[in-house]
Amino acid sequence: MSIPSSFAYARAGSVEEALRILASDDGAKVIAGGQSLLPLMKLRLASAETLVDIGRLGELKGISKLEDGRLSIGALTTYAELMDSPAIHYGVFRDALPSIGDVQVRNRGTVGGAVAHADPASDLPAALLALGAELVLQSASGTRTVPADGFFEGPFQTGARHDELLTPVILPAPRDNAGSAYVSLEQPASGYALVGVAAVLILGAGDVVEYAGIGITGVSEHPYRASEVEAALVGTNASADVIASAAANAVAGRPVNSDIHANGEYRAAMAVVYTRRAIAAALARLA
Ligand SMILES: Cc1cc2nc3c(=O)[nH]c(=O)nc-3n(C[C@H](O)[C@H](O)[C@H](O)COP(=O)(O)OP(=O)(O)OC[C@H]3O[C@@H](n4cnc5c(N)ncnc54)[C@H](O)[C@@H]3O)c2cc1C
Repeated sequence: MSIPSSFAYARAGSVEEALRILASDDGAKVIAGGQSLLPLMKLRLASAETLVDIGRLGELKGISKLEDGRLSIGALTTYAELMDSPAIHYGVFRDALPSIGDVQVRNRGTVGGAVAHADPASDLPAALLALGAELVLQSASGTRTVPADGFFEGPFQTGARHDELLTPVILPAPRDNAGSAYVSLEQPASGYALVGVAAVLILGAGDVVEYAGIGITGVSEHPYRASEVEAALVGTNASADVIASAAANAVAGRPVNSDIHANGEYRAAMAVVYTRRAIAAALARLA
């Protein structure tokens, strides 16, 4: 079936209007680029009584530098716009963005849509987790800022309430002593990650690892931060042996997905291999 159930359509003229509709209508759903929502609605795997189109809200577009150097990425920023912005300073984005979907997906798909949709194999969340990004959620009753870590709760499930709109995503200020990278093993037909690993390392005096952020996607019920890998790296010189033993914790304590494309054993093994590669690639950018 390729025709969605019928729905009402409301083009929001402002963020306030969108929030008002979301607050008053439990059956309302936001549409941004429509790259995930429309196919799901056509397959009748998702439905909405009212689609609230936020696609033309200029307030949600654009990338700006905050006073403290952090980057604020509007929720409606497309992948293509992100690739053409100061955010490309981060190696994780240089690696991850060009292979997401195809030209149309990168021109239409938005940062906010990718994060809110919370596909367990989505690339961008892994990069945001590793960077330690924050997400700003706005509703008619107020605004709150939450860490990306903890936001993804399950397949297509997040900590956002129904009446909340994701507004900007906040990235930490770029630093000279930081290196980052993203590597993925893709399912050849869909291009989605069977295993995707983002690594961000910050080195301090004596090249000791001050900060390690490891975001993993495609492997478990939702993208997650591999905190045991991070803990095993911090305070070390990240030698090859340290990286190998840290990466061995890539799926520690996590249920591992198993499907027709890759069983759990293979995915878990590849998660370790790709975690090792991502850390090494992030370090190489610091050399
Ligand atoms: C052919 C194809 C290939 C793809 N390949 C990849 C890939 O390789 N890697 C990958 O990571 N992704 C891939 N994708 C998915 C793509 O990244 C997402 O579809 C896209 O980023 C979603 O953004 P959107 O603006 O289109 O969201 P929409 O489809 O408009 O919305 C998606 C969901 O997010 C909600 N939403 C949207 N914006 C907000 C907001 N600001 N606040 C709150 N909720 C919001 C909507 O209500 C909906 O539930 C692919 C998609 C397609 C169609």
